[in-house]
Amino acid sequence: MQKQKLLYKGKAKSVYETEDNDLLILHFRDDTSALDGKRIEQLARKGVVNNRFNAFIMQKLADAGIETHFEKQLSEDEVLVKRLDMIPVECVVRNFAAGSLVRRLGLEEGQALTPPTYELFYKDDALGDPMVNESLSISLGWATEAQLTRMEELTHQVNEVLKALFEAGDLILVDFKLEFGVFHDRIVLGDEFSPDGCRIWDKTTKKKLDKDRFRQSLGDVIEAYEEVASRIGVPLS
Ligand code: ADP
Ligand code: UDP
Repeated sequence: MQKQKLLYKGKAKSVYETEDNDLLILHFRDDTSALDGKRIEQLARKGVVNNRFNAFIMQKLADAGIETHFEKQLSEDEVLVKRLDMIPVECVVRNFAAGSLVRRLGLEEGQALTPPTYELFYKDDALGDPMVNESLSISLGWATEAQLTRMEELTHQVNEVLKALFEAGDLILVDFKLEFGVFHDRIVLGDEFSPDGCRIWDKTTKKKLDKDRFRQSLGDVIEAYEEVASRIGVPLS
């Protein structure tokens, strides 16, 4: 399958059409962004690491019966996916408090959230991805009530599968973001799952091993991603 027209250049991935109207190629670049794209840097190996990480996780989710857009890894930094009609809502599950939740409610980072919380954010960099809810998403025509119900159900299922996977590597899955889209009337998991879109801490030391290392200028960003990958069994070469 060959890349054809560039459809969209995102902050971290480029999206290409293919000769098959139902399939796209995502190219994982080394670009890393924070502050809704206002800070961008290149981190060597990131595209390759995230592509391999994502392929591994998508396969685990498929094994657990969760339908994803993943079709095939095409090269070290490219993946073939189903072309989804993306819903512009980010679905976030949190097992422990961190990031925007800590800032919004003045919580202590690391406070356990039982049961895990579920939040929606409108995907719009210019607006800083504001928090929204189901009612707004329905009234503004982003998704139907049935689609939103399915997205929440699937996000919690993903959390159950991945919490266990990370736990087995002595890692804590703190929170993560998913994006869904519609493929022939079905809600399907799209985009990516990598340390760019989740928080992962070492179980014992609570060392941050995710994109917070970039956001907070902690250094060794890709080294941390590689450590997570090796602990959960992602083949990196
Ligand atoms: P951003 O848009 O936030 O800068 P990326 O750089 O990751 O993000 O760009 C990838 C874009 O591709 C995102 O807008 C995402 O919603 C979209 N996307 C991901 N998977 C699919 C898919 N299967 N079909 C269509 N679009 C997709
Ligand atoms: N997240 C993401 N993309 C976004 C916003 C958040 O991947 O545009 C992820 C983030 O990495 C974290 C989770 O979603 O794992 C929750 O993010 P939060 O609301 O705490 O926002 P942040 O402080 O990370 O911007």
